[in-house]
Amino acid sequence: MKKISIAIDGYSSCGKSTLAKQLAKQLGYVYVDTGAMYRAVTLFAMQNNFINDGEVNTEHLVESLPEISIHFELNEENHPVTYLNQKKVEAEIRTMEVSNNVSKVGTIKEVRQKLVFLQQQMGAKGGVVMDGRDIGTVVMPEAELKIFMTADNNVRAKRRWLELKEKGQEETIESVLENLKHRDNIDSTRAESPLTQANDALVLDNTNLSRDEQLKLVLKWVKERTSA
Ligand code: C5P
Repeated sequence: MKKISIAIDGYSSCGKSTLAKQLAKQLGYVYVDTGAMYRAVTLFAMQNNFINDGEVNTEHLVESLPEISIHFELNEENHPVTYLNQKKVEAEIRTMEVSNNVSKVGTIKEVRQKLVFLQQQMGAKGGVVMDGRDIGTVVMPEAELKIFMTADNNVRAKRRWLELKEKGQEETIESVLENLKHRDNIDSTRAESPLTQANDALVLDNTNLSRDEQLKLVLKWVKERTSA
C-alpha cells in the first residue's frame, strides 16, 4: 500500500499523540511528536536559567540554539523516547513546570525555524505521522491527510489530569484546565505560525468518541487516500 504523510494538529490535550501512536503502530509508520521537541528546548532553557518567573531570556536561548540537539530512540514497546543532548528526558519534559513555560518558548521565531527544519528532515521520506500545532500548515503542507483535532475543554482537562495522576503527578483539574486554556491562547495568537486549521484539514471532534471509534474513522480516511 502507498505510504502517505499524516499531519495531526489541534489544541492541547485533545489526544493527538494517542491517535498518532495508534496510527503509526497500525500502519508501520514513523511517529514524530513535535511537542516533545518544543518541550526539550524548554527544559534546556530552564536548566540554563534562561527562564525566570515565566519570562524567557530570548537572546541567550537563541544564542545557545546551536548547542541543542534533539533526537528520538525507540524503546522496547516501539515508542519514541525523547533525548536532549544525548540524555533521555522523556519524563522531565512532561512536568507541569515545562507545560507552563513551553508555549512562550514556542513563540520564538528562531526556535521554530530550527525545529521545523529538523521535523521536515524526519518527515522527508513519507510514511510518517506527525502531531503538533503547525504540521498541516507549515511543516508538511503537502501531507496527503491533515487532521485538525478538537474536544470539549472540560473533557480535555479531565483526560490530562488523569494522565498526570497515573504518572504520580498530583494536580487539581482547575490548574490543568487553566494551563490548557493558557497554552491554547498563546498557541492560537502567536505571530509566528500560529495554530490554525489548514484549509484542507478534516476536523475530528472526539468529545464523544472512544479511542477505538476515533481510530476506526481515521483508518477509513487513510484507506481512502492510499488505495486511490
Ligand atoms: O503537543 P504538546 O502539548 O506536548 O506541545 C507542547 C507545546 O509545544 C504546545 O502547547 C505548543 O506551545 C508547542 N508546540 C508548538 N508547535 C508544535 C508542537 C508544539 O508550538 N508543532
